[in-house]
Amino acid sequence: MRKILVVGAGQSGLQLALGLQSHGYEVTLMSNRTADEIRTGRVMSTQCMFHTALQHERDLGLNFWESQAPRIRGLGVSVSGPETEDLPGGGRGRVIDWGGMLDGYAQSVDQRVKMAGWTETFVQRGGQLVVHGAAVSDLDYFSRAYDLVLVSAGKGELVSMFDRDAARSPYSEPQRALSVAYVHGLGPRPEHPDFDAVRCNLVPGAGELFVIPTLTTSGRADILFWEGIPGGPLDVFSGVTDPSEHLALTLELMKRFTPWEYARATEVELTDAGGTLAGRYTPTVRHPIGRLPGGGAVLGVADVVVANDPVTGQGSNAASKCAASYLASILEHGDKEFDEAWMQGTFDRYWETARPITKWTNAMLGVPPEHVLNLIGAAGALQPVADRFANGFDDPADFEDYFFDPDRTQAYLTSVTGA
Ligand SMILES: Cc1cc2nc3c(=O)[nH]c(=O)nc-3n(C[C@H](O)[C@H](O)[C@H](O)COP(=O)(O)OP(=O)(O)OC[C@H]3O[C@@H](n4cnc5c(N)ncnc54)[C@H](O)[C@@H]3O)c2cc1C
Repeated sequence: MRKILVVGAGQSGLQLALGLQSHGYEVTLMSNRTADEIRTGRVMSTQCMFHTALQHERDLGLNFWESQAPRIRGLGVSVSGPETEDLPGGGRGRVIDWGGMLDGYAQSVDQRVKMAGWTETFVQRGGQLVVHGAAVSDLDYFSRAYDLVLVSAGKGELVSMFDRDAARSPYSEPQRALSVAYVHGLGPRPEHPDFDAVRCNLVPGAGELFVIPTLTTSGRADILFWEGIPGGPLDVFSGVTDPSEHLALTLELMKRFTPWEYARATEVELTDAGGTLAGRYTPTVRHPIGRLPGGGAVLGVADVVVANDPVTGQGSNAASKCAASYLASILEHGDKEFDEAWMQGTFDRYWETARPITKWTNAMLGVPPEHVLNLIGAAGALQPVADRFANGFDDPADFEDYFFDPDRTQAYLTSVTGA
């Protein structure tokens, strides 16, 4: 039986560990936290996952929370206008506001729920769990004891083993300051009280507010997620350690920059003391093979090798797609040696999926060019455009066709209007 070590019990590591286990591999999972520590700890993400990524979980029979988690049927975009005195209480109005319908619903299951549950399932199914924060020196030893070592430790310190791929990493600094608050008591958007949607609120020059329905440890909740351009008016969460202060700041910014979202948030309270998160990181693509001091090689997975900013909500989706792609490559390889050529080929196969995700996400971090503003504006009057844009979150490769090039954007809009 082939022996595989998976380091890191997040979306990609657990999906791979459980997938390999179901195919008869002898899998050891190394996690720096127990299932209980994960469940009772701090939130880690907003983890909104779209149809394709959810289907990979269903294919492995891992969709344990599908019936409980809100079904997110739509994705809306609002753009705030300039600050004005004219609105009641001041604040800003919306210059763009539309909703696209998803072909297949999206879902967000708090990673504390999912990773704790999946870890327990892995152990119940006979998997070996080692609770230990792995260091490079540990991996040196383990690379000799296992046929393959997969490093799925997210954006933690182990990434230092993997060289940055400068040609694929346009940014050398974080592009957004992130702040998340999980709340109970958010009202529905009056435009669609009958179904759940992710709402993307763009505040030109300052950042974005995402509102995402989720399933958390205490049941249904919503996530208020600010992405602030560093140094701007939304980049104010550094050093805020008190959760209630974090929520108060979140709401204050909503009142000022997105009053239409604030209007439904006046009754909210935090889900729990671990329901807030703040931080920032630099979007980075890395070379996939980590070479160990003792000569061994390990393969990086998901965020270790391709970490995008969450502005497009792609990281968990990409982690699921990476795990599915790597699982297929491992199974197809049979009993042959997992050498460096195989590792590179395995990553290259995943990069076909990750490249358009990375390209679109990095584009969304910059100042949108005029043709993109026109496209987003046109979606307000053209439902097929809104729907297509929304479904691009499931399959960002579709943006290649009409998003990046002004002529192609125009040709697409013309094809929709028939003008
Ligand atoms: C604020 C925020 C919002 C986000 N929103 C979304 C969203 O809406 N949609 C979306 O798709 N993605 C989102 N993401 C991104 C998504 O959460 C990540 O891309 C995804 O979780 C990456 O999965 P992974 O398996 O690569 O790593 P992770 O999920 O980060 O898992 C890595 C695991 O390894 C463990 N670990 C780390 N170091 C070690 C070590 N040395 N030894 C052992 N274990 C270790 C960690 O504790 C963790 O459990 C968001 C991220 C952030 C920060």
